[in-house]
Amino acid sequence: MKIIMAAAECAPFAKAGGLADVIGALPKELSRLGHEVNVIIPKYSLISEEYAGEFVLKESVEFSFKGQQKSFGVFEYDQAGVKFLFVENDSYFKRDQIYGEDDAERYAFFNRAVLEIIQRQEQQPDLLHVHDWHTAMVPFLLKEDQRYSSIREIKTVLTIHNLQFQGKFSKDTFLENFEMDARYYDEGIVEWRGDFNSLKTGISYVDKVTTVSPTYRDEILTDFYGEKLNSFLQEKQQDLVGILNGIDTEVYNPATDLSIEHEFDAMSMEGKLVNKRAIQRRAGLPERGDVPLLTMISRLSGQKGIDVLEEVLPVLLAEEDLQFVLLGSGEEQYEQFFRTLAADFPDKVYIHVGFDEAFAHLLYAGADIFLMPSHFEPCGLSQLISMRYGTVPVANKTGGLKDTVVEYDEQLKAGNGFLSDFSQSQPFGLALARALAFYQQPEHWEAVKTNGMKGDYSWSRSAAEYAKLYERII
Ligand code: ADP
Repeated sequence: MKIIMAAAECAPFAKAGGLADVIGALPKELSRLGHEVNVIIPKYSLISEEYAGEFVLKESVEFSFKGQQKSFGVFEYDQAGVKFLFVENDSYFKRDQIYGEDDAERYAFFNRAVLEIIQRQEQQPDLLHVHDWHTAMVPFLLKEDQRYSSIREIKTVLTIHNLQFQGKFSKDTFLENFEMDARYYDEGIVEWRGDFNSLKTGISYVDKVTTVSPTYRDEILTDFYGEKLNSFLQEKQQDLVGILNGIDTEVYNPATDLSIEHEFDAMSMEGKLVNKRAIQRRAGLPERGDVPLLTMISRLSGQKGIDVLEEVLPVLLAEEDLQFVLLGSGEEQYEQFFRTLAADFPDKVYIHVGFDEAFAHLLYAGADIFLMPSHFEPCGLSQLISMRYGTVPVANKTGGLKDTVVEYDEQLKAGNGFLSDFSQSQPFGLALARALAFYQQPEHWEAVKTNGMKGDYSWSRSAAEYAKLYERII
């Protein structure tokens, strides 16, 4: 099959979260299965010269956007059997940040660019796979805009990586950016509950909708997790599939990772301790192997359960001998909480506010416990990466966390982490307390760590599921 993917992020070029990890890994795996895959993403100026320096300009495309002639360059880069096509336009993508205030217009431009590229290709794809709201208007334009009538029959899939982000804007924004008839809004085709809604539009136009774990697939049909789209999703239930994400096991490999201090595997865990000391040195914390080192690497948003840590961490840090290192950025109130925590416990807490891929790898490698008290988690990749590096997740039992983290059973020595469900009987603090208790019992800690490291988090199974889904649609 020839598959085209379009997305706003792709690792290692431009990453803000898990979406990038998926777009960086799934196409490679599909290519390994024998399919031809093109990935179309914006050419943000933040892409490192290490890659951008190798991009080759293939063509310059002129087209009409917002009533004006606009142009963009298409740059090509081949990696691991996948062809990456980068859309260059200075006024929209020459930025130091992936996202910004004018995203409605920027991604409207990108959606059209994707279709302009496909239309010019010699061999049409069998299927177009778009991701999240940023590219969710592509299927709508493909079917409804006369400009693309020659490629209208291409099949489409949309993956929801996070239902919270729907690309909701005003009616005027729709009219200005897409130059389509107002009836699409007035008849409720691109509208939902008084907004122009990009994600909802995508959902209604694609052949199949997928989301990134089986549990999240069921959750988003409910009021609690449905982000006000659940009644609409229920209508599409038959076409909604949950396929669990994997991780790129070449990028995240403790035995070959060049960003960490010392490589290791399940057979040579002393190397993990070298990484722990490297973190402590960098963080200015006491260099001790015996103290449990907790970490969190995350976007700091309400979803991620920082409010839970606000309750748990100050008490725990006051009472227990442990260390905590945070790597993350996001909402000011949460950044402030962690700053205060670091000031209150200078010999126990270190925070790095920002995005740092290499430090993230070191933390995954050297920490003992990874905290993930998410209120909802479509899949979550951090817990998978942690387990791959022998760092034990303490997580809330929701979405993909429920599908991947298994509570440790001391009798059977089975399980790879510790779970809460936020109820009175299973609060997060209690799950963390269990983890800390087992940390003191080496035979159990070795077991839970090793169970995690032995898990198969590769993309091979899930990529095969996507391929099967594509085949069925085609
Ligand atoms: P989400 O997509 O909701 O942000 P995931 O757990 O699916 O959460 O994926 C997060 C990805 O982003 C992981 O690869 C994680 O290591 C990475 N990440 C998050 N915050 C940072 C940060 N501040 N610095 C480096 N990597 C980060």
